[in-house]
Amino acid sequence: MQQVIIHNTHTSPLTISKLHKVWCEITGTCSCTAIRTVTYDYDRNPASKTAGERLPRPINRLVCDSFMVRGRTKSDPLPEAVLQLPDVEGARAARRIRIIRI
Ligand SMILES: [Zn+2]
Repeated sequence: MQQVIIHNTHTSPLTISKLHKVWCEITGTCSCTAIRTVTYDYDRNPASKTAGERLPRPINRLVCDSFMVRGRTKSDPLPEAVLQLPDVEGARAARRIRIIRI
């Protein structure tokens, strides 16, 4: 996989989220953090004693990793997949960054 460097040409830092659906699927490595949290759902089973009540249900969520490129600095070499992340696409469209192919 080709690598690129992100040059943040602005003075403000740029935070880039490594979205699971984009980053992890392209790179084949999940860099997300799995967290276990609780959601509350109505019990929709009419045969249940608690039907209609809101019950806690544990769920596993993935929180994606992110990284920052400080203002007027360059990132370390990154997989080309970074170009498909929405934060990078937005920053390119706004001409906030320059992509260096290595
Ligand atoms: Zn992931």
